[in-house]
Amino acid sequence: MSSSSSNEIVGRCLCGEIKIKMTHECLTDKSYQIVLCHCTNCHRAGGGLASLDLILPEDKVNLLDNKSLLKKYNDTNTKSKSLTERYFCSQCGSPVYSKNPETQPKKIIIK
Ligand SMILES: [Zn+2]
Ligand SMILES: [Zn+2]
Repeated sequence: MSSSSSNEIVGRCLCGEIKIKMTHECLTDKSYQIVLCHCTNCHRAGGGLASLDLILPEDKVNLLDNKSLLKKYNDTNTKSKSLTERYFCSQCGSPVYSKNPETQPKKIIIK
């Protein structure tokens, strides 16, 4: 990762094997939302008082997972009763992002 331009924002999991890239533009064109989710499942999945999430259209985000470490947990026991797909790094256990295909199609919820 040497040639990343300054226009890029790169997030990563704790071990660094999974990276999420986005451009600065997607944080200025109002297509994003920031939410603080206090649901019980986010407490359990993240081990904190709340989950601070950045919600973006999924086509604005580039995922790098060269070792295929990303795993999915289908969270069906949610407050809204709709499926939440929780993606995490199987090497370090970090929550990476979630998707709500029924209530927020084509959106990625970055942890
Ligand atoms: Zn990791
Ligand atoms: Zn939640």
